[in-house]
Amino acid sequence: FGSARQNSAGVNIDIESQWQPFQQAIHDFNQMTWKASPIINGKPTAILAAERITITAPYDHNEVVGEVVDSTSSQIETAITSAHDAFVEWSQTDASQRVHYLKLLADKLELHQAELVALCHREAGKTIHDAIDEIREAVDFCRYYSEQVETHFLCPQRSTSFDGIDQLVSYQGRGVFVCISPWNFPLAIFLGQICAALAAGNTVVAKPAEQTSLIAYRAIELLLLTGIPHGVIQLLTGKGRDIGQQLISDERIAGVAFTGSTPTAQLINRTLMARECAPVPFIAETGGQNAMIVDSTALPEQVVRDVLRSAFASAGQRCSALRVLFVQQDIADRVIGLIQGAMAELSVGDPRLHATDVGPVIDSSAKDKLLTHIEKMKNQAQLICQTPLTSDCQLGEFVPPTAIEISNIDLLTQEHFGPILHIVRYKASELDQVIDQINKTGYGLTMGIHSRNERTYSEIESRAKVGNCYINRDQVGAVVGVQPFGGRGLSGTGPKAGGPHYLYRFMQPNVVSINT
Ligand code: GLU
Repeated sequence: FGSARQNSAGVNIDIESQWQPFQQAIHDFNQMTWKASPIINGKPTAILAAERITITAPYDHNEVVGEVVDSTSSQIETAITSAHDAFVEWSQTDASQRVHYLKLLADKLELHQAELVALCHREAGKTIHDAIDEIREAVDFCRYYSEQVETHFLCPQRSTSFDGIDQLVSYQGRGVFVCISPWNFPLAIFLGQICAALAAGNTVVAKPAEQTSLIAYRAIELLLLTGIPHGVIQLLTGKGRDIGQQLISDERIAGVAFTGSTPTAQLINRTLMARECAPVPFIAETGGQNAMIVDSTALPEQVVRDVLRSAFASAGQRCSALRVLFVQQDIADRVIGLIQGAMAELSVGDPRLHATDVGPVIDSSAKDKLLTHIEKMKNQAQLICQTPLTSDCQLGEFVPPTAIEISNIDLLTQEHFGPILHIVRYKASELDQVIDQINKTGYGLTMGIHSRNERTYSEIESRAKVGNCYINRDQVGAVVGVQPFGGRGLSGTGPKAGGPHYLYRFMQPNVVSINT
């Protein structure tokens, strides 16, 4: 996707001269508490009687990070009306001016990196590497979608047909887009959706995950500081289900961008279908039952490195994360032995510490579901390894990285969104069935393959029904503008975020044919 734009470099924490001042800056935010409330027409609106949610750090229940005010039904109504009213002027604003604000936002995110990293640690439990990458990805989305607009959408695309008639194809915003984003990428996906919708000429009502409203609120404050017209972005904080239901049912909504679980996407889809008005685009990026296939030609040490990163980085809380590892029988003992050794070395704990590999999961409900699954699996399968937790982990929502050998992927009827790796052995003669079984799950997000046999990996890749296939590498961390990201089937509707076709889905194409 050749371009002169460079992705954000972030902070290199392995270089002492960069790390030291940055660490100090983060430290200053470690004592702070934040607040979040709906922001309507540029104004934070906190109603005294409104319900408040206290946010505590996922790594320590005793650490209060801030307070979130729930949106009331009348605020939801005002947010939609305001975004609706702001649409005409925004859609007629020159596209270069629209993206000007987004580029200013990227600069502001970089300027406030230390505070945003602190929020990623304390509100979302992200490790230092994940937090820095999170800010980088948010910056990249702002700049990438801006560049896409400047390259493709500043003027109508003109063509002349054989009969001498001119065609002008232009793309316009559709109206009010609802952006519903998850807690696992509280800044990057939150802003990625918003920037795409705004760059495309829509106005936005944004609903961040309630667990990570504080960072979302801070991001919208920074966006408003760019001078962007206040009506074009409305923020609704608070409980997802009620706010979402009212938003999606409203007939003034012209599109929905959603990232989150498959069942929630199905619920949104049903609500949209039940509306009597014109159908609108629904962009959903959802879960996965992501597999990796490792054949006997693979390099075991490389496999283990990539398995650990794919399954346990970000505490397995990526929709791209590896859930089921298929290892060919001939090298299974060796690979599993190496995985056990490497898992024993993982350091689980306070995500603010440089040495931590795996932080907490997002909240107690997530922890309970994961631990229940591990207990259930212990009766049906063989526990291979579980990284021990230190006593500090009792303070927060920690789930030990766990590897379990199972007989078949069919045992897994849903996605388990955390640091749990399932392992299945297969014989060389069973490769076809393995691919069929993976496809049969209905999910299609990421797949990893480790093989040095080009015929094998090409065959698997061509038959796998997934959005992103990664060969002889890890399968997480798609880079904006480099690996457009998104799935199919139960994993999402496409288009791929951070890719060249994403913005089209947020736009209304318009064709004028002129016989001059
Ligand atoms: N884009 C992310 C990755 O490649 C995953 C996004 C998600 O978890 O929703 O790992």
